[in-house]
Amino acid sequence: MEKIKLKRVSLLLSFACLLPGPAQGKQPVRSAIKKTCESGIVLKLSSASASQGSILIGEVTGAKPGQEFSAEWAGQPMPVWRESPDSATLHTLLGVDLEKPAGSYEWKLSWSGGDGKPLTCSLPVTVRAGKFPTERLTVEKQFVQPDPEQLKRVEEDQKKTKAIYDTVTPEVLWKGKFVVPLKGVSTGGNFGRRRVLNGEARSPHAGVDFPSPTGTPVYAAQSGKVVLAENLYYSGNTVVIDHGYGIHTLYAHLSEIGVHAGDLVEVSAEIGKVGATGRVTGPHLHWGLTIDHARVNALQIVQRQP
Ligand SMILES: [Zn+2]
Repeated sequence: MEKIKLKRVSLLLSFACLLPGPAQGKQPVRSAIKKTCESGIVLKLSSASASQGSILIGEVTGAKPGQEFSAEWAGQPMPVWRESPDSATLHTLLGVDLEKPAGSYEWKLSWSGGDGKPLTCSLPVTVRAGKFPTERLTVEKQFVQPDPEQLKRVEEDQKKTKAIYDTVTPEVLWKGKFVVPLKGVSTGGNFGRRRVLNGEARSPHAGVDFPSPTGTPVYAAQSGKVVLAENLYYSGNTVVIDHGYGIHTLYAHLSEIGVHAGDLVEVSAEIGKVGATGRVTGPHLHWGLTIDHARVNALQIVQRQP
């Protein structure tokens, strides 16, 4: 286990999910970059540029047994983990938040050389603005202008979810690849859309929406630990799963929740049913993915081995 900083997490036809919420469509294929650093360490990134709301995959090779590493992404501590305890290869996922300002950033690795000398090596990353449409929607007034009591609930919900995303479990809880949380579905929409509700600008849409009938089973996108399973004001009946190393998935607007906080779930285990609870205009599943607080397009992680 590597030393990491533990403290810190198309409008589809007739409905719209109204949770604070990358661009739809295909991601352009970009070439990977790599750099050979001191003491035989090699850094690799899946791309030298990324758009808002996307994921980059990082790899470190040439690590010696027992050698400890720490890493930063855009100035923030970011975990790296060994493929297996005696492997010379480490991995990381870098999330580009859907509102991260466009510009130049870097992924930086730090370690100690043979003589104890601190060493660093970095790769530059250019973040490009995403192309997110703006949409105007009308919802019940209580979801745009909550009264003081509702506002208190919203603040409590935010405190709770922040504490969850601030916690980095230094352990790989995932097994194999991520899957879409509905059977027979491969695409969803709305990610990153900028929102104007009842004429007022609101947070962008941070998840992917899948329109689906109420009662349709929802499955865990990956193995992990359930860290939230309750009703929240905006997201309705909500489940959050911690997959380890700052990777969390969220499932919102459920009609039924089938798990409890603390449960360990396997990939594809049923965790609830599709519904229309919270701020919605119709039944659907809202699926969110955060990587160390960065809100990214969950569809980008499907079929990838982190
Ligand atoms: Zn949504």
